[in-house]
Amino acid sequence: MTYVIAEPCIDVKDTACVDVCPVDCIHPTKTEPEFEKENKLYIDPEECIDCGACEPVCPVEAIFEEAAVPDKWKHFTRIDADWFKNKKG
Ligand code: SF4
Ligand code: SF4
Repeated sequence: MTYVIAEPCIDVKDTACVDVCPVDCIHPTKTEPEFEKENKLYIDPEECIDCGACEPVCPVEAIFEEAAVPDKWKHFTRIDADWFKNKKG
């Protein structure tokens, strides 16, 4: 399982979640070159330990545990996973 960042993050990107993630699996961070060109952040499903720390700090409630992602945003589970697949090649 993993946590997923859904649509509300788009164009918000305040990185509050990055600051609390104990395993640094939310990217891009503000210091990474991709940050400016991406419109949301992504959670790496292979690294996320399901601790839940990120969910309550998101000001726009964009973060959900995978099984709890609302139906209208289910595709974001794939979007987050694919972002890391493409990045890692
Ligand atoms: S659930 Fe925990 S490990 Fe997973 S992205 Fe959120 S803070 Fe990081
Ligand atoms: S805390 Fe929420 S809005 Fe901010 S970057 Fe993380 S997912 Fe996006």
